[in-house]
Amino acid sequence: LGKAYSFMVRNRIPGGKITAAQFLGELDIADQLGNGTIRITTRQSIQLHGVVKGNLWSTIHRINEIKLSTQSACGDVTRNVCCCPAPLRQNGLRDQLQQLADEIAVHVRPKTKAYHEIWIRDVETGEREQVVGPPTEPEPDPIYGKAYLPRKFKIGLALCDDNCIDVYDNDLGLLGVTEGEQLIGFNVLTGGGMGTTPSKKNCFPALAKRLTFVKTEHLLPIITAIILVQRDFGNRADRSQARMKYLIHNLGLPAFKAKVEEYLPQAEAICGVPEGTLPRPLPEPHPADVTRHDDHLGWHEQGDGKWFMGLPIENGRVKDEGEYRLKTALRKLFAEHVSNARLTAQQNIIFCDLDAQQREPIERLLAEHGVDTVDKISNARRFSFACPALPTCGLAVTESERALPGVIDEVEAELRELGLPEEQFTIRMTGCPNGCARPYNADVGLVGRSVDGKTGQGRYTVFLGGNLLGTRMNQIFKDQVPRSEIVETLRPVLLHFKEHRHAGEGFGDFCDRIGVEALVEIAGSTV
Ligand code: SF4
Repeated sequence: LGKAYSFMVRNRIPGGKITAAQFLGELDIADQLGNGTIRITTRQSIQLHGVVKGNLWSTIHRINEIKLSTQSACGDVTRNVCCCPAPLRQNGLRDQLQQLADEIAVHVRPKTKAYHEIWIRDVETGEREQVVGPPTEPEPDPIYGKAYLPRKFKIGLALCDDNCIDVYDNDLGLLGVTEGEQLIGFNVLTGGGMGTTPSKKNCFPALAKRLTFVKTEHLLPIITAIILVQRDFGNRADRSQARMKYLIHNLGLPAFKAKVEEYLPQAEAICGVPEGTLPRPLPEPHPADVTRHDDHLGWHEQGDGKWFMGLPIENGRVKDEGEYRLKTALRKLFAEHVSNARLTAQQNIIFCDLDAQQREPIERLLAEHGVDTVDKISNARRFSFACPALPTCGLAVTESERALPGVIDEVEAELRELGLPEEQFTIRMTGCPNGCARPYNADVGLVGRSVDGKTGQGRYTVFLGGNLLGTRMNQIFKDQVPRSEIVETLRPVLLHFKEHRHAGEGFGDFCDRIGVEALVEIAGSTV
């Protein structure tokens, strides 16, 4: 017997927009072909886990049948395009942003027919065997060419007053700049990425750098030019150096910008706009920057007479477990109350287009299934999230999704004891340094490093000094901290924060102001 290979199958859901039928379809597929759970990801998508090899074709085929796709959700291409998902219709800005995200997703989607031949053509012929044929020459893609990209490439769109998607963590962040209620264009941020390999000195996580400002109608050509530069100059010899952040680091931002300008004619041709449409040289970025973060949880008026409700989902995992029956609750909600939803980049879900009178039955249904709404959870839990790690991620060193809830229990107790239960800060945990839960710009980042050979307990690097806004990297506070000692390690810092913070100062801002070296000394002297 061969090995029973099992796969993770990830959807591509631009901006996290999903219908009730699609969500229910994903739950059915997970029940019948996966491990019975689904996971809302940090890029507004859905992952299915535990899909055995023999069920892979049926799983992907069925995802396409419910009008979703897995194409370019993984691989060395542009991944799921992230965008603020809030259905706020007061001024049309979110609708415009979400429409742009859809257009970008279509534009950067690989044009190859191979995906359809393998996973979909069967719908027309009914004969699966026909999809297997002799190898054909790869079709050159207008953007990706024959060789695609050196590595994955992430694009995200946000507004300055609502960085709910962590725009600076993307290879290409597009930060909408407004005048009054008009979107006047985008600051283009390049070279963000959270992955790193600590054993390699030339690897690092990075926030994107501010490259230029473009008018909204020039988005597709600038995106195309940047992708072409990464395609042609990104490192294809060393995969650990293949993300665009390393290209920018090695070239320097001005030289990278000059390369992008050089590629503008080609990009303009691909986009079908006249040569010279974009200004040369590309202008400096607009001074506007991120000013706020909003996770869109709770009940809010949409501005069109309807309401939306953001529901926290711990680490994005949709499951039934004992008294906690989230999966059953969502099945009922989508069958009876909700027709549209959005997945958020904090792994939560937003139910859209609700009537005010639906509030009571929806909240009752959730309570009956042991599911807490945002007003019933602590801020520590609300703003935390973890990557899946063990047992489903092959790269995991330590626990993450299964460990973080217990860490948060302890953090909550500590904050209560210190009289800081309302503090708002992010705690993000990953099971390895790849950073899928964006730990390196969180107020507190916990990154799995090793496992104690005797106890089997994970050890983590503790980072401090990021912020909720997602605009600042944190720094290593302590390495190799056993899981059971994380909160003990944080305690002296939290105490110092309580006693010495400035009025209104957040935890990450405080840690950044004091500096990790000073915090290490303070923690050492209070042990
Ligand atoms: Fe990503 Fe590492 Fe977590 Fe796996 S263990 S999901 S690679 S951060």
